[in-house]
Amino acid sequence: MRSGSPRCAFAIVPNRRGAPILNTPSPAIESAAHTLHWALRTYRERIVLAVSFGGLGGLVLIDIALRIDPRLPIYYLDTGLLFPETYAFIRNTERRYGISVIAVRPELSLAQQAQRHGDELWKRDPDACCDLRKVRPQRAFLKDYDAWITGLHRATLASRQAVQRIAWDAGSNVVKVSPLAAWSDADLVAYASEHDIPHNPLLDAGYASIGCVPCTRAVRPGEDPRAGRWAGFAKTECGLHQSPRNPGRPSSRLSERDQNREN
Ligand code: SF4
Repeated sequence: MRSGSPRCAFAIVPNRRGAPILNTPSPAIESAAHTLHWALRTYRERIVLAVSFGGLGGLVLIDIALRIDPRLPIYYLDTGLLFPETYAFIRNTERRYGISVIAVRPELSLAQQAQRHGDELWKRDPDACCDLRKVRPQRAFLKDYDAWITGLHRATLASRQAVQRIAWDAGSNVVKVSPLAAWSDADLVAYASEHDIPHNPLLDAGYASIGCVPCTRAVRPGEDPRAGRWAGFAKTECGLHQSPRNPGRPSSRLSERDQNREN
């Protein structure tokens, strides 16, 4: 852990804004804090937190993580196509926590992408577009790290039922830590309510899952929360959480015990 960071066991400490210490017993929060303590102690300066600023999980994770290590680097993937509300929410989050969030951007500008691959690639081949604007930039960024932290939790999607707290990310050759893996939606809402955690205002406008403007719509009552993403395509994931076809051997950065650790 970075020097000067609190070394208290698994307690949730006040954040830099002086928010009150959490003293309500909560197995979910204890468990997430435990995982974060382990990860921050193990990977020290070589770990980074990824937040999409679309769902509630990312902000909850920021709130818990910064209580443990206020200097933990945080990034988002700036595709250049996020909602104005999302960009404004990121700036508001920076002000609230006194942090500077890293914008990870694609190699190609939107104009360059249109020149090489045609206009509005997302309408014809969203997998290729996500690869150019999300997957490759993230993999390049993570070359400087040994581990990344995500706000994934199993409750969000059937395809995410296998999310583990600690796993090997073969695509980026780093360890993936998901402290909220076992949290329910109710756990997230309870934490957000107790700590007055803000959320992307689009969540109040019927958007259940928020990504890029061209690939996101509000969902109707009763629809699957992910129905508003890539509507008209079978695609449900951007590719950041999928393994490549030929994953390499897990690095020694993740011990066999940690790979098998279930959480
Ligand atoms: S979500 Fe849509 S616009 Fe954004 S990178 Fe993926 S395909 Fe492109």
